[in-house]
Amino acid sequence: MPDPAAAPKISRIEVDRDACISAGSCVAIAAKTFQLDDEGKVKLINPKGDDDQTILEAAKSCPVEAIKLYNESGGQIWPA
Ligand code: SF4
Repeated sequence: MPDPAAAPKISRIEVDRDACISAGSCVAIAAKTFQLDDEGKVKLINPKGDDDQTILEAAKSCPVEAIKLYNESGGQIWPA
C-alpha cells in the first residue's frame, strides 16, 4: 500500500507527447490518469485520477521522462 504521508502533493502534470515513445508503463500504473490516444501517445485524462504516490510512480516508470510533475508553488517534483 502506498503511504499517503510520503507522497508529494502534485498540483500540475505535464505530458510531453513528442517525447513519448508509447512504452505504456505510465498507463499500466495509473490508468485513471493516463491513457494512450489513437496515435499511441500519452494523454492526460484526469489529473486527479489516481493518488499522488501512484502518479509519481507512473512518472518514474517512464523511460523517457515524458511526464513532469509540479507542486503547488510550481516547483518540479519529477524529474527530480
Ligand atoms: S511511460 Fe512515458 S513513453 Fe510510455 S506511454 Fe507513458 S509517457 Fe509515453
